[in-house]
Amino acid sequence: MKKYNFYAGPSILSEHTIKNTAEAILDFSGMGLSIMEISHRSKEFIAVMEKAQLLFKELLGIPDGYSVLFLQGGASLQFCMVPYNLLVNKAAYLDTGSWASKAIKEAKIFGEVDVVASSKDSTYGFIPKGYKIPSDADYFHITTNNTIYGTEIKKDIDAPVPLVADMSSDIFSRPMDVSKYALIYGGAQKNLAPSGVTFVIIRNDILGNVSRPIPTMLDYATHIEKESMFNTPPVVPVYAALQTLEWYRQKGGVGAMHRENNEKAELIYGEIDRNKLFEPNVKDPEDRSIMNVTFVMNHHYKDLESEFLAYATEKGMVGIKGHRSVGGFRASIYNAMPLSGVEALVEVMKEFEKKH
Ligand SMILES: *Cc1c(COP(=O)(O)O)cnc(C)c1O
Repeated sequence: MKKYNFYAGPSILSEHTIKNTAEAILDFSGMGLSIMEISHRSKEFIAVMEKAQLLFKELLGIPDGYSVLFLQGGASLQFCMVPYNLLVNKAAYLDTGSWASKAIKEAKIFGEVDVVASSKDSTYGFIPKGYKIPSDADYFHITTNNTIYGTEIKKDIDAPVPLVADMSSDIFSRPMDVSKYALIYGGAQKNLAPSGVTFVIIRNDILGNVSRPIPTMLDYATHIEKESMFNTPPVVPVYAALQTLEWYRQKGGVGAMHRENNEKAELIYGEIDRNKLFEPNVKDPEDRSIMNVTFVMNHHYKDLESEFLAYATEKGMVGIKGHRSVGGFRASIYNAMPLSGVEALVEVMKEFEKKH
């Protein structure tokens, strides 16, 4: 039976990415060697790294003056690298979920943190609005897509101070204006590659303001200067990322991805709103993520929760159990999820409604 992968991360990758990476693991570009066993200083791998950086810039329209880095340590290491490199006195953070609050915790090690707004009291079910960003903050940090709760900031906001964004789970889901951001980072395992590589898009001129000593590996300047080759980069995940980027370009770029993502999101949210058994977690359509769709059983049908999970799993829907902090269900419909996958899930929801 056909399986549909709705896992939140690591998560679905395009067949193009998986096939090409599998081939390169057996024989990388006719070298008679595996991509896993060649020097990262070989001309063949240097070409991979350069192409991946160029495609990142092309697909997102990254202006001059920015660097694209491929690092390790996950988005979680960025929670501390950002304040290490940028926090002089005070930073402002928007608390929209547990990833945001983990970032806040790390920033507090380095200086004063002003949490401008939080939706924690309502289990992060919405994106706070009408907050004020202090103009004396060294930067303002947001998490654009809240993977666990299913909320998303879908527009590039204006900030009076350098804007820093964790885009782990929505990078490449829509066209964006990179010039509004000073730094964007994310783990690759949601919309790009297998886990093991972390991307950072950084405006080079935001560095150099802090006076604390920064360990070499945690200093963005090191990786900018050495073009992500200071030490051994995660060769296989970078190769896989390049395959995904090429696939995005073939599909028509982030504009085409965005149209498809909106279509998928409209279909599934439409069904959640219509079907008497289900209820959306995020009430305001403006805040609903087009990447992670969270929903619960309507309170009249609460006792059907485990039955629906078992039914959907039996029909080939993999990974739709909600995060333990929210409960219910989460369908992650990243770029690589085809419309047919969402149609299949909607069909299962309809069939289940008929049975009850
Ligand atoms: C998954 C995720 C993280 C954590 O990423 P790691 O690479 O596991 O450290 C951080 N932020 C967001 C928004 C995520 O979705």
